[in-house]
Amino acid sequence: MKLGIVGLPNVGKSTLFNAITKAGAEAANYPFCTIEPNVGVVTVPDQRIRVLSDLNKSKKTIYTTIEFCDIAGLVKGASKGEGLGNKFLGHIREVAAIVHVVRCFENENIVHVSGKIDPLSDIETINTELILSDMELLERRIAKTEKGSRYDKALAGELEILKKVYDFLSSGTSARAMELDEDEADFVRTLDLLSYKPIIYVANVSEEDAADGSENEYVTAVREFAAGEGAEAVVICAEIEQEISELDDDEKALFLEELNIDESGLDKLIKASYRLLNLISFLTTGSDETRAWTITNGTKAPQAAGKIHTDFEKGFIRAETINYDTLMAECDGSMTKAREKGLLRSEGKEYIVKDGDIITFLFNV
Ligand code: GDP
Repeated sequence: MKLGIVGLPNVGKSTLFNAITKAGAEAANYPFCTIEPNVGVVTVPDQRIRVLSDLNKSKKTIYTTIEFCDIAGLVKGASKGEGLGNKFLGHIREVAAIVHVVRCFENENIVHVSGKIDPLSDIETINTELILSDMELLERRIAKTEKGSRYDKALAGELEILKKVYDFLSSGTSARAMELDEDEADFVRTLDLLSYKPIIYVANVSEEDAADGSENEYVTAVREFAAGEGAEAVVICAEIEQEISELDDDEKALFLEELNIDESGLDKLIKASYRLLNLISFLTTGSDETRAWTITNGTKAPQAAGKIHTDFEKGFIRAETINYDTLMAECDGSMTKAREKGLLRSEGKEYIVKDGDIITFLFNV
């Protein structure tokens, strides 16, 4: 599951992407896959992993990761095939969610493609291309559905939704802003519309604005626009992130303290991206290793076990678990204490794993 970084030229995409690749996860964690040049892999910050690893004196500490891919080159007219447009729209179709970078910094030396800083107009330029491409897709789908819908009730129902979405898009608004009931949403999801993909808007601000924490009018505009789509906005200074990405952890902490920033923008973006993809982490810990594992929210215990090894899923018996928060609040982080207090639960096949569950799986071999 990848997120695709999009934005107009000169908004700071490459700067952000460089920060992502430099802050990148150890390639050693990826022995089985080659990472393409336009893909950056970053670790998902998780304080809990560090704490558990220290408590259990784990030999290895492994964070979970998330992938971003750089989709450069989307310009006005892309949906009409301009500037290799179709290729870029195709790349967007492949990602699970979009990170839309918007320029909110002024700099006379860096040309803005439309001559002035205007985040809302920038957002509209890109969203319009996605909307136009979706409308084209819907036109074809409507024509196909119309043929069969006279004799088929289900198709007639689909046709109604297709037309409703088409009309909505005609007003120039992304499909994700539509109010849909659950059944409609389930169907619309299958259409794989670009403007229905989950999105985070990244307001790229100047070093000065990032440091003094004040929100400039551009950022406010982006935030309000995002809220209107039910989306999140994250403020970042790509330049600073690039500098930070070259530092080690201690230097990074010092640097952020000097700038009076509590968390790096990139860390905020990574966490927001993880939430956006509806991902959560369960944890395993012991003297060998402490590790975070990614699952989709709603995953049951056997499938979560399958993330570690397919044998764990096939032979699943039960999961012994306690949530990290309970372990810390009521047992001072001690598993022995948790066991004594009867707080270590035994969960079966139907158990839905929660974020922060520390799990030991029992399985048949
Ligand atoms: P892209 O075309 O969207 O990939 O944009 P780039 O990442 O190449 O950035 C365009 C220019 O803007 C470069 O000269 C960057 O150094 C500059 N830039 C990017 N982010 C920031 C930022 O946060 N603050 C400032 N002042 N300049 C930035």
